[in-house]
Amino acid sequence: MMEIKYPDVLLDSLENGHMIIDDTFKVSYWNRWLCINTQIQKEQIVGKSLAEFFPQINYTVLQRKIKTALSIGTPTFYDANSSTKFIPIERNKVTTSSLKLMQQQVTISPYISHENKVMISIYDISELFEAKMVIKKEVQMVHKLNDKLEADREIIDKNIIVMKTSANGTIKDVSTFFCDFFEMSKKEILGKNISMFKLKESSDAIYKDMWESIRNKKSWSGELRFQTSKGAEKWFQTRVMPILNAHDEIVEFSAVFHDITNEKLLAELYITDPLTKLYNRAHFDESINFIAKHQRRADVDFVLALADIDYFKSINDTYGHQIGDEALIGVAKTIKNSLRENDLIARWGGEEFVIMLKNVTIEQAKTIIEKVRVNIEKQTIRNDIKVTASFGLTKYQEAEETKETFKRVDDALYEAKRAGRNRVVVK
Ligand code: GH3
Ligand code: MG
Ligand code: MG
Repeated sequence: MMEIKYPDVLLDSLENGHMIIDDTFKVSYWNRWLCINTQIQKEQIVGKSLAEFFPQINYTVLQRKIKTALSIGTPTFYDANSSTKFIPIERNKVTTSSLKLMQQQVTISPYISHENKVMISIYDISELFEAKMVIKKEVQMVHKLNDKLEADREIIDKNIIVMKTSANGTIKDVSTFFCDFFEMSKKEILGKNISMFKLKESSDAIYKDMWESIRNKKSWSGELRFQTSKGAEKWFQTRVMPILNAHDEIVEFSAVFHDITNEKLLAELYITDPLTKLYNRAHFDESINFIAKHQRRADVDFVLALADIDYFKSINDTYGHQIGDEALIGVAKTIKNSLRENDLIARWGGEEFVIMLKNVTIEQAKTIIEKVRVNIEKQTIRNDIKVTASFGLTKYQEAEETKETFKRVDDALYEAKRAGRNRVVVK
């Protein structure tokens, strides 16, 4: 390397520290920047050893570095950022960091080789250092957030039934709890269509409603019934959310399921007659009053039928209570199977049943109930026991109290009984 002797004025004008020393550490030049920052003047230090002023420097290392620079003829770095700085300089700038001492980059360049002189340059890299510290802190924070997210994700994964599907319903991901709940492995689920869990008899209307909502990029909440791999039917309070991309297009759906099977069973129990599994009287009462109240607005009218098994006491007396129960179950089934899905049937009392036929004329109702009567007459309990039933029938009169409807139907039933039983009487 060519040796250039820099004029002192040039070195004095630089915003970095520059000194010239030989391999015995004797200082032959000390620039203005060093004077200002160390409070040591040229005339104090020039001609003296650096060790007199800065005893904390590791001179063994420094000497090795000087020799290296002189022998290879190119600048070398001196690691100045250990706990003891090369030349400790307090920072005079107001900073946001707690950095008290200047961070330095120190290079040792050969200067006048035959005199074993080198130039040591000190650059202030405190700001770079601070910027690095900020980045390091931010990276640490990102790591921390990631850890927290990971922990949250694990809680969700282990405790919540969640699913992600593609826009066409192909299952892309499910939580571990989802797999546990449906007793299936992830492998068995991923890639399949969501419809694999749907029960055949599920109402199509509710799925139509859901798809309409989520295709319009709105979330949907509702109750869905699914089947586990073992065939258990489960009810879920479900929330489905469309996930949109930057172009506002649906890319995925996410669904969260909350198992409400027990609540559903309880609610069902509450409105069901335990023997016949028909609705109970309380539920029928509530329904008929609701319908009567909103009859005009909902545009419904209905015919009420009351059935009472004939001579049922003698069934019990002849065959025993157990067979009496079987007869009740049989009659309940026959009534249900003879009617439409949306006719409301309940067990009214011991061996009495009540039926609401919606939106039919009284003539149509009479035909329907006559068919029910015949079906009961035709059925046998335990192969040879036969029962019959009498029916009262009446149409709900607009705006009347339901107790008036009940009174009329009761009278009709009484007349059917008096006229000889096993018949339908309209009032
Ligand atoms: P009618 O033709 O006049 O209706 O005669 P009936 O014998 O059916 O009339 P009644 O009301 O006197 O008798 C009803 C009987 O129904 C009385 C009761 O022992 C029986 N019963 C009521 N609830 C049950 C039940 O849950 N199980 C059984 N096995 N019998 C019941
Ligand atoms: Mg009775
Ligand atoms: Mg009876």
